[in-house]
Amino acid sequence: MPGNVAPAIPGEYFEDSVVADMRLIVAGAGGRMGRALVRAIAESGGAVLAGALEPPGSELIGKDTGVLAGLPANGIEVSADLWSLSAHADGILDFTVPAATIANVAIAAERGLVHVIGTTGLSASDMAVIKSVTSRTVVVQSGNMSLGINLLAALVKRMAQSLDESFDIEILEMHHRAKIDAPSGTALMLGQAAADGRKIVLDQHAARGRDGITGARKSGDIGFASLRGGTVSGDHSVIFAGPYERITLSHHAEDRMIFAHGALKAAKWAHGKTPGLYSMADVLGLGD
Ligand code: NAP
Repeated sequence: MPGNVAPAIPGEYFEDSVVADMRLIVAGAGGRMGRALVRAIAESGGAVLAGALEPPGSELIGKDTGVLAGLPANGIEVSADLWSLSAHADGILDFTVPAATIANVAIAAERGLVHVIGTTGLSASDMAVIKSVTSRTVVVQSGNMSLGINLLAALVKRMAQSLDESFDIEILEMHHRAKIDAPSGTALMLGQAAADGRKIVLDQHAARGRDGITGARKSGDIGFASLRGGTVSGDHSVIFAGPYERITLSHHAEDRMIFAHGALKAAKWAHGKTPGLYSMADVLGLGD
């Protein structure tokens, strides 16, 4: 379809009964990830851009999303009205802020949209709200949508199963200077993988934000450290530090398009699935 924008007849089916391209709304279309998502949709087949969202009062309302993403104009203008946009859409790709994502959850569920949530910094109560709608709608939520990190998480879980508490687990991450939450959603996801491998509850063993006279490290803790600066898309290392040897597993995101393509893959995978809460491990077939 030229320019990968939504078809004139919403829900149109081709003669051979193949379902039409998935119509996707990008929330936070003016953000770093939003612009990458608009480019990813334009680059790939099977999906079209059906709408774009920014908060009410944003100076980007009415702007062309193609131009914002550094592409030719595509005729899809930024809006602040998800309810209207979602009448003619199948899914929403949401990389915004927790408050916006939680507001979008209710509308996406009401409209039966696939909701792909990449927003990080979600609290336990935000997750409870998200879970509450998954009996009637499909949500794919992950702190990191890249293939590499999800593979890394699977490896971390496997290593944490094999190495006992004589190996201290430390997670180090670095991101660009504008990131607003710490540790990163990905670091927490890797911590969760390590906790799953050790069959422990992460919240009871996470050591975050060490400063001053902290005392010796507790055996069995999972430590987190965050660095911020420059334009780093996302670096993560999981260190297993044992007696006289150390294993480090690392991932370096070189371009945020890896997350955008992962989110798009998740949306297409989720289209038509049974309602529920899914992860990227489900999308990529990396589950147990
Ligand atoms: P960003 O550049 O700050 O973009 C966020 C966008 O969301 C901004 O354009 C912001 O608009 C917009 N927004 C805020 N409230 C909104 C609302 N109510 N409705 C619609 N849009 C709204 O941040 P980013 O780097 O793109 O990252 C966005 C999120 O994705 C962060 O949580 C980040 O950690 C996460 N992320 C996840 C992955 C993953 O793979 N899961 C990868 C990368 C990033 P204003 O600027 O006008 O407020």
